[in-house]
Amino acid sequence: MAKKTYEKPTIIKVESSHSKAGVPMPKQKIRKKIGGVAIDEMVERFGSPLFIFDEKAIREKYRSAYEAFSSRYPNVQFGWSYKTNYLKAVCAVFHQEGAIAEVVSEFEYEKARELGIEGKDIIYNGPYKPYDSLVTAAKEGAKIHIDTFDEINDLEKVADELGFEIPVAIRLNMDTGIYPQWSRFGFNIESGQAMDAVKRIKAGGKLRLTGLHAHIGTFMLDANAYKVETTKMVRLMNEVEEKVGFTIEYIDVGGGFASKNHLRGIYQPPEVVVPTIDDYAEAITSALYENIRGNSYPKLYLETGRHLIDEAGYLVTSVVASKTLPDSRRSYIVDAGVNLLYTYFWYKFNIELTREVSGISEPAMINGPLCMNIDVIDESILLPRLRRGDKLVISPVGAYNVTQWMQFIRYRPRVLMVTEEGNVELIREREELSDIEKREILPDKLKLK
Ligand SMILES: *Cc1c(COP(=O)(O)O)cnc(C)c1O
Repeated sequence: MAKKTYEKPTIIKVESSHSKAGVPMPKQKIRKKIGGVAIDEMVERFGSPLFIFDEKAIREKYRSAYEAFSSRYPNVQFGWSYKTNYLKAVCAVFHQEGAIAEVVSEFEYEKARELGIEGKDIIYNGPYKPYDSLVTAAKEGAKIHIDTFDEINDLEKVADELGFEIPVAIRLNMDTGIYPQWSRFGFNIESGQAMDAVKRIKAGGKLRLTGLHAHIGTFMLDANAYKVETTKMVRLMNEVEEKVGFTIEYIDVGGGFASKNHLRGIYQPPEVVVPTIDDYAEAITSALYENIRGNSYPKLYLETGRHLIDEAGYLVTSVVASKTLPDSRRSYIVDAGVNLLYTYFWYKFNIELTREVSGISEPAMINGPLCMNIDVIDESILLPRLRRGDKLVISPVGAYNVTQWMQFIRYRPRVLMVTEEGNVELIREREELSDIEKREILPDKLKLK
């Protein structure tokens, strides 16, 4: 048996709200499996830390979102938001389910093409689309969503160069009752700028407006904002068709539906504050029915990101050391830090253990491995006394972490996917020195050997 290291006993101040007679200690949260596979076994095989995605959960979420919209409206298409999570395996699951790609840079565009998505199945958004990428996108028939007047000019030049009329959509921004308003993207409806852009496109005679797009925010807790958005978009569509003579084939309402994650500063649990997918679907489709004139129903596009992937992703991390802080809190140092958890800045994560641990819970803090004071995953959590090697399962972390994670101080870890069949697939290898130094150049005169 390993010799136990001696540690001076400490008196733990358990906060009164938790220690009063009759107030039970919070129940330990335990998760032993993901997608039916034991977490401990995956860590044994692939090391720690580990991101793990649950394929079945992704597909189920997608299907229920698709069902919520397609059961209400005849013509629905989802576009997977690459920036939310562009691991190939994750994108491929969504594409297999029928989603097209939604990209916001030439890099993401190339990534979608590389995966086998045709140009016509790519929505190309974003405030900066380099000229060459517009040429490629126009040639390949992508859905280009214009963000600025400068981009109208660029695309007219592309149309001249290619010798054909380019179908385009414009991005809109508007007041939906949500503040701050995301007014920096696209053309504003209320000021008349959107209508000006439409007229400008018409006057140029080189582009054909076929769609209207907006993306009003992210983690939207008010489904009604989508009702306002869709209403304003359909009314603009009616006006454009009547006054300018373009035929609008589709309305793209963007993404932004919340996941069941716990925003910092919001005290009610996500089950209470997050609208259901049916709430969002009802808001959007009812606005379509109330405002569409005649019976030509434009195709409805959605660019849902976060809502579809967040809860299918977990980060498993292990305790590497622990100590007692001067305020008597226990500090656990774990092998994954905020460099891997970009969404830490917004969320208080759900943190679970993979085994039952006996003993009372005590106030603790979970610190990452970075030599940076900000590397705190949870600064106040009640945990039973953990041992070195104990694992913590952090969730939901499927959205925006494996795209916004940083290579900083440590290598980024492996990513696994547990398949529907219960197999474990390695979908991203852990980083090593050569990955990071590949693009560095050391001038000859500075070479040390
Ligand atoms: C980021 C983004 C999305 C996805 O947003 P979520 O909040 O993850 O649903 C959709 N459309 C555009 C244009 C985006 O920039």
